[in-house]
This record gives sequence, structure tokens and C-alpha cells, in this order.
Amino acid sequence: MEKRELLYEGKGKRLYKTDDENVLISEFKDDLTAFNAQKIGNEEGKGALNCKISTQLFRLLEEHGIKTHLIETISDSTQLVKRVSIIPLEVVVRNIATGSLVKRLGLKDGTKLPFALVEFYYKDDDLNDPLVNDEHCLMMSLVKSESDLEELKRLGREINGILKKFFEKRGLSLVDFKVEFGIDVEGNILLSDEISPDSCRFWDMETNEKLDKDRFRQGLGGVKMAYEEVLRRILEKKD
Ligand code: UDP
Repeated sequence: MEKRELLYEGKGKRLYKTDDENVLISEFKDDLTAFNAQKIGNEEGKGALNCKISTQLFRLLEEHGIKTHLIETISDSTQLVKRVSIIPLEVVVRNIATGSLVKRLGLKDGTKLPFALVEFYYKDDDLNDPLVNDEHCLMMSLVKSESDLEELKRLGREINGILKKFFEKRGLSLVDFKVEFGIDVEGNILLSDEISPDSCRFWDMETNEKLDKDRFRQGLGGVKMAYEEVLRRILEKKD
């Protein structure tokens, strides 16, 4: 597969065209950003860690029947992925209240939620990715139909169920996470982007230590060590 011109550069990844119009190369960057890129950092090796973590998790989800854009990992920090048209929604699933939910609703940080809460945020940096409801999504044609919205919620919950169980076996509580979906040339909804400590919150079930990007957001240090620890636990054989 030949790497061609840069198609898009985001905060965490670069996407390149290839000689196949339906296949892209996704390169994970070492950059770290938080608060809509108001805080910027760089951690050497972070891109490769996220690439490995995301590859493992996408494979796990594929084994459970979730369709993803991942074709294969071709180097430490690059993947071959199917070209999709990204649905401009961040699908956030929460098991424990923290972050923006606590700020918005005044809940106590760390409260276990009675059910997995699914939220949609409109992907727009200029607007600071606002929370949107179903009717906003339909009114702005962010999705084709109400059934696509239901499908995104169903997929979010299903992914949560699989990952939560997987991480619990490894001593990590999956607090919340964000996923993105795209539509491929055949019209399938595919899990896209990445699942990594940049897009999830993991708390150690014994020590409550944060093992995710909150270490960067909150200036706690030890970012790379935390990501390495998440990868180590993912690679532990448990079944
Ligand atoms: N998240 C993300 N990208 C974003 C916003 C949130 O990956 O642009 C993830 C974040 O890592 C967390 C979950 O989505 O796992 C919920 O984040 P929250 O809404 O609490 O936002 P934050 O407190 O990070 O602003």
C-alpha cells in the first residue's frame, strides 16, 4: 500500500491517502491536547501506545461483532483503515459521573450512575463541541434518520458492555469514554477513530489512581507510565 498525500490532520492523528481510494493510513501523533486545545503537550511514544491499545480494543470489539474501520496495523503508530465519512457526533458513554457531567449537573464526582448514560456532542471546535439532543441531531441533519441515532446509542451501550467487563477483569474501572462512527462506501456504520486513554477514563479499582488523559488535563504527571500500564493490563491473558 503506497502512502500518498496528507488528507487531514487532527489533534491526535494524521490521515493519509493511499493508492486505494477506499483505504487511508492513520498515523497516531505524540501530541496531547485538552480543553479544546487550550492546553497542548507532547509525550514521546504516546502515539505508538495509543495505536497498540486502540488496535487491541478494536480487535476485541470485532470479535464481539462490532464492525470497525480498522483493516490492519502496519507499524508501531500507523494503521490501515477503511475510508469513511465521519458522523460529526462524539458518542460519550458514562458509567461513573465525572468531568463535564459533574460540572453541568452538580453531581458528586465518582457517583456510580444507575445505568450507562449515552450522550451526543456535536463535533465543532469553534462551538466547543456542545452537548446536543436527538432533535438537534435531526434538525441539523447530523445523522440521516432517527433509526441511525438509535443505532449509535445501541452501539455505544454494546461497546460499553464489552469494554467494561474486559477492563474489570484487569482491575480497571471504565468510567466513561468517547467513540466516533463513520459511514463506509456501502452505507455501513463503522466504529472509527480510536479508543485509547486519550478518549477513555480508567480508574484503578484498588487504588483509584487515574490511568488516562486526566493525568495530562490535571497536570498529575506520569502520563506515559499510565498509558503503558493500560496496555500492559490489556495484554494480560485472562480467559
Ligand atoms: N472525550 C474525548 N474527546 C473530547 C471530549 C471528551 O475523548 O473532545 C472523552 C473524555 O476522555 C472522557 C469522556 O469523553 O472519557 C467524557 O468527557 P467529558 O464530557 O467529561 O469531558 P471533559 O471533562 O474531558 O471535558
